[in-house]
Amino acid sequence: MSDCLFCRIVAGEIPAKIAYQDADVIAFHDINPQAPLHVLIIPRKHIATINDLQADDAALVGKLFLAAKHIATEAGYAENGYRVTMNCGADAGQTVFHIHLHLLAGRELGWPPG
Ligand code: 5GP
Repeated sequence: MSDCLFCRIVAGEIPAKIAYQDADVIAFHDINPQAPLHVLIIPRKHIATINDLQADDAALVGKLFLAAKHIATEAGYAENGYRVTMNCGADAGQTVFHIHLHLLAGRELGWPPG
Protein backbone atom coordinates (compact mmCIF):
# COMPACT_ATOMS: atom_id res chain seq x y z
CA MET A 1 0.00 0.00 0.00
CA SER A 2 1.60 3.21 -1.20
CA ASP A 3 0.07 5.31 1.60
CA CYS A 4 1.33 3.03 4.38
CA LEU A 5 4.43 4.32 6.17
CA PHE A 6 5.78 0.86 6.94
CA CYS A 7 5.13 -0.40 3.39
CA ARG A 8 7.24 2.55 2.24
CA ILE A 9 10.02 1.44 4.60
CA VAL A 10 9.73 -2.10 3.19
CA ALA A 11 10.03 -0.62 -0.31
CA GLY A 12 13.11 1.39 0.68
CA GLU A 13 11.33 4.69 -0.01
CA ILE A 14 11.79 5.86 3.58
CA PRO A 15 15.12 5.17 5.31
CA ALA A 16 15.27 3.05 8.43
CA LYS A 17 18.04 1.47 10.47
CA ILE A 18 17.57 -2.20 9.69
CA ALA A 19 18.10 -4.68 12.54
CA TYR A 20 17.10 -7.85 10.68
CA GLN A 21 15.49 -8.92 7.43
CA ASP A 22 14.54 -12.02 5.51
CA ALA A 23 12.13 -12.91 2.74
CA ASP A 24 9.03 -12.31 4.88
CA VAL A 25 10.05 -10.06 7.76
CA ILE A 26 11.90 -6.78 8.21
CA ALA A 27 12.92 -5.22 11.53
CA PHE A 28 14.15 -1.68 12.08
CA HIS A 29 14.92 0.62 14.99
CA ASP A 30 12.06 2.78 16.23
CA ILE A 31 12.46 6.47 15.38
CA ASN A 32 11.43 7.38 18.96
CA PRO A 33 12.99 4.63 21.12
CA GLN A 34 11.41 3.91 24.50
CA ALA A 35 14.25 1.68 25.70
CA PRO A 36 17.96 1.22 24.88
CA LEU A 37 16.81 -1.36 22.32
CA HIS A 38 13.50 -0.60 20.59
CA VAL A 39 13.00 -2.42 17.33
CA LEU A 40 9.84 -2.75 15.24
CA ILE A 41 9.37 -6.12 13.56
CA ILE A 42 6.94 -6.20 10.66
CA PRO A 43 5.80 -8.52 7.88
CA ARG A 44 6.71 -7.30 4.40
CA LYS A 45 3.08 -8.05 3.55
CA HIS A 46 0.64 -5.29 4.49
CA ILE A 47 -1.71 -6.33 7.29
CA ALA A 48 -3.33 -3.36 9.03
CA THR A 49 -4.14 -4.76 12.47
CA ILE A 50 -4.41 -8.01 14.40
CA ASN A 51 -8.11 -7.90 13.47
CA ASP A 52 -7.11 -8.38 9.83
CA LEU A 53 -5.09 -11.55 10.41
CA GLN A 54 -6.25 -14.67 8.59
CA ALA A 55 -5.58 -18.31 9.44
CA ASP A 56 -2.95 -18.58 6.73
CA ASP A 57 -0.99 -15.72 8.35
CA ALA A 58 -0.20 -17.94 11.35
CA ALA A 59 3.28 -18.93 10.18
CA LEU A 60 4.08 -15.33 9.30
CA VAL A 61 3.13 -14.17 12.79
CA GLY A 62 5.35 -16.90 14.21
CA LYS A 63 8.22 -15.55 12.14
CA LEU A 64 7.79 -12.12 13.73
CA PHE A 65 8.36 -13.69 17.16
CA LEU A 66 11.31 -15.74 15.96
CA ALA A 67 12.86 -12.55 14.58
CA ALA A 68 12.32 -10.88 17.97
CA LYS A 69 14.09 -13.74 19.71
CA HIS A 70 16.95 -13.58 17.21
CA ILE A 71 17.43 -9.82 17.52
CA ALA A 72 17.21 -9.84 21.33
CA THR A 73 19.64 -12.74 21.57
CA GLU A 74 22.13 -11.18 19.16
CA ALA A 75 21.96 -7.92 21.14
CA GLY A 76 22.69 -9.77 24.38
CA TYR A 77 19.30 -9.40 26.06
CA ALA A 78 18.14 -13.02 26.11
CA GLU A 79 19.21 -13.60 29.71
CA ASN A 80 18.01 -10.38 31.38
CA GLY A 81 14.79 -10.34 29.41
CA TYR A 82 12.89 -8.23 26.99
CA ARG A 83 9.33 -7.33 26.06
CA VAL A 84 7.53 -8.04 22.81
CA THR A 85 4.17 -6.37 22.31
CA MET A 86 1.74 -5.51 19.53
CA ASN A 87 -0.85 -2.76 19.86
CA CYS A 88 -4.21 -3.24 18.17
CA GLY A 89 -6.43 -0.26 17.54
CA ALA A 90 -6.81 3.21 18.97
CA ASP A 91 -7.35 2.33 22.63
CA ALA A 92 -4.16 0.28 22.63
CA GLY A 93 -2.22 3.17 21.11
CA GLN A 94 -1.70 1.79 17.61
CA THR A 95 -0.65 4.70 15.41
CA VAL A 96 0.75 2.90 12.36
CA PHE A 97 -1.74 0.54 10.75
CA HIS A 98 0.67 -2.12 9.50
CA ILE A 99 1.13 -4.75 12.19
CA HIS A 100 4.39 -4.55 14.09
CA LEU A 101 5.89 -6.13 17.15
CA HIS A 102 7.66 -3.74 19.47
CA LEU A 103 10.82 -5.34 20.88
CA LEU A 104 11.97 -3.43 23.96
CA ALA A 105 15.04 -4.24 26.03
CA GLY A 106 17.88 -2.78 28.02
CA ARG A 107 16.03 -1.42 31.03
CA GLU A 108 13.55 -2.65 33.62
CA LEU A 109 10.12 -2.43 32.06
CA GLY A 110 7.14 -1.56 34.25
CA TRP A 111 3.97 -3.61 34.37
CA PRO A 112 1.14 -3.01 33.70
CA PRO A 113 1.87 -0.63 30.84
CA GLY A 114 -0.01 2.66 30.83
P1 5GP B 1 2.30 1.96 17.44
O1 5GP B 1 1.98 3.22 18.20
O2 5GP B 1 1.52 1.90 16.14
O3 5GP B 1 2.21 0.70 18.23
O4 5GP B 1 3.83 2.07 17.06
C1 5GP B 1 4.29 2.82 15.98
C2 5GP B 1 5.75 3.09 16.20
O5 5GP B 1 6.31 3.51 14.97
C3 5GP B 1 6.04 4.16 17.23
O6 5GP B 1 6.82 3.61 18.29
C4 5GP B 1 6.79 5.23 16.43
O7 5GP B 1 7.82 5.83 17.16
C5 5GP B 1 7.32 4.44 15.26
N1 5GP B 1 7.50 5.23 14.05
C6 5GP B 1 6.62 6.14 13.54
N2 5GP B 1 7.11 6.65 12.39
C7 5GP B 1 8.31 6.04 12.18
C8 5GP B 1 9.29 6.17 11.14
O8 5GP B 1 9.15 6.91 10.17
N3 5GP B 1 10.41 5.40 11.27
C9 5GP B 1 10.59 4.55 12.32
N4 5GP B 1 11.73 3.85 12.33
N5 5GP B 1 9.69 4.42 13.31
C10 5GP B 1 8.56 5.15 13.24
